[in-house]
Amino acid sequence: MTEAKFEKAFLKAVKKHTGIRKHIEAKVRQITEFPVELGEPLRGSLRGFYSCPVRGNFIIIYLYCTSCRKKGDAEFVACSDCSENADETVKFVLMGPHDEAYSTRIKI
Ligand SMILES: [Zn+2]
Repeated sequence: MTEAKFEKAFLKAVKKHTGIRKHIEAKVRQITEFPVELGEPLRGSLRGFYSCPVRGNFIIIYLYCTSCRKKGDAEFVACSDCSENADETVKFVLMGPHDEAYSTRIKI
């Protein structure tokens, strides 16, 4: 059973963009169910993270701890409490317009 966790930055962004809240909620449910299938693996400084489009140019950035571990990315990925999470943990990190989300320095 997959467990969803939400970072503060993600919750803040959801509050800010109430207009697409329903779309976000629906996507969060889908991602929690199919984190690997729906995610596009990111590279570079966001290695180990996944992104998934929500609506328009909005994307969600998240981590899936099973993937953190499989790829041996835990050392690179800023998944600070990875070892405390169950394998099946999806951590929702950020949400926002494509460019904004990618340019945000992710601190977890
Ligand atoms: Zn992790």
